[in-house]
Amino acid sequence: MLIAGFLATSLSSYYTSRESIRLRISSKGLPLTSDNIYSEIQHDLLRPVLIAAQMANDTFLRNWVLEGERRPEQIKQFLQEVKSRYGAVSAFLVSENSRHYYYAGGVLKDVAEGEARDKWYFRLRGIAGDYETNVDPDLANRDAITIFINHKVLDFKGNFIGATGIGLTLDAVSHIVDNYQQRFNRRIYFVDRSGQIVLASKSLYLLRGSIRELPGIREVADKVMAAGNEPEAMHYPFRGSTIWLNARFIPELGWYLLVEEDESGEISAIRNALLLNILISTCITVVVLAITLYAINRFQRRLERLANYDVLTGLLNRQAFELLIQQSINTAQRYQRPLAAILFDLDHFKTINDTHGHLVGDEVLRQIASVTRSVLRESDAICRWGGEEFLILLSECSQAQALLTAEKLRATIELHDFTAPVKLVTISAGVVQYRQRETAISFFARADEALYRAKANGRNQVELESQPTDRSSEPPKTTINA
Ligand code: GH3
Ligand code: MG
Ligand code: MG
Repeated sequence: MLIAGFLATSLSSYYTSRESIRLRISSKGLPLTSDNIYSEIQHDLLRPVLIAAQMANDTFLRNWVLEGERRPEQIKQFLQEVKSRYGAVSAFLVSENSRHYYYAGGVLKDVAEGEARDKWYFRLRGIAGDYETNVDPDLANRDAITIFINHKVLDFKGNFIGATGIGLTLDAVSHIVDNYQQRFNRRIYFVDRSGQIVLASKSLYLLRGSIRELPGIREVADKVMAAGNEPEAMHYPFRGSTIWLNARFIPELGWYLLVEEDESGEISAIRNALLLNILISTCITVVVLAITLYAINRFQRRLERLANYDVLTGLLNRQAFELLIQQSINTAQRYQRPLAAILFDLDHFKTINDTHGHLVGDEVLRQIASVTRSVLRESDAICRWGGEEFLILLSECSQAQALLTAEKLRATIELHDFTAPVKLVTISAGVVQYRQRETAISFFARADEALYRAKANGRNQVELESQPTDRSSEPPKTTINA
């Protein structure tokens, strides 16, 4: 019951803690991190959008395009200034008229309708808003992945005459991601629309490839790609643990933001607590059981002693002895084995008590018990039958042997040197042999009778039971009526 109780409480608290940890990770921790990262990204992209808008509305830039793009060094200088003033990796202008792509170094190339790299330009022409954010490799910057703010340039009547804007490195976004990664110990990374990992924090630099192929996460890849602008919670098993994942689409980047947490970190703490709990509970249970068993055994032994033994002499008491006698009689009957008994009583014990007091009398009784034990065999049973009356049961013993034993006992007690002030103690004894089919009562009645005769004959002697009278040889009793 103790073990079951301890286990039930430990396990239930473990499962409750685990559930609350999981709930906290999936419904609070991860969405909060995702929200914070998203709002910081939005915040960081706001300034570049304003810069792009300023460029697009710049009178010089618009006039320069409208006036036929003469003296390209002027626009080159303009773009150079924007780039250095705002710390952008690139600043650009595309003219609708000439399709020239200008950057801080001059004309980079011409945009063409079928070119995959130039798709963004033709897409921008068709959008309803003024600008869009796009992530692309930057040709002007060794194809480094760059966030572009592409802004429409309109003439003074509102007609589309080109596109301008700036490109930013991903450093800013990486910085946010690293920061969060460190603070919350969560894995933060971005994947593009094809599932390819495009950006991860520094510590996750080994994370490469597509989430559709990476072990673990590939199981929820479809769910990730189906995520909208709102954070979507999901989880997948990985290396014996559960990874909780929050995914959302970031429209400004065209990427999915993934925030992950491995539950094993927090779960292992409560698992250790569970193991410690079980260990402590087991120790408590073992100690409690040991103490209980020890106490019960001790108590049991004491009760048994009290129930079966005489406190003064340490001999068997009458109750215990009666059980023993019944067993001995049964054995003697079944196997036709000899069984004898000696009943003895101290002579004039009352005088010892009266002369020296009860304490001395008690000591005499103790010594009588120990002398008797020393005279008898290990297998013989001795009982304190009454106040100063003792009964000895001798298994496998004939009448003659019993008589010898009784005589030896009587002589030993007579010669025994009792502690002063008692000088001499003698006993009178009756010896009987068990007769087949005889009851215990009649067996002892005969012993009592023999003892009585020993007393009557002058004490300090052994008397044998009177020999059985053969009823068939007795003359028939006749009753004479007066
Ligand atoms: P007898 O030779 O006829 O047996 O004389 P007796 O004095 O021994 O007579 P009896 O058997 O009647 O007396 C027994 C005495 O033993 C009386 C009783 O007070 C005393 N006695 C019984 N039990 C104890 C005991 O446990 N301690 C002590 N000190 N005395 C006991
Ligand atoms: Mg007596
Ligand atoms: Mg007596």
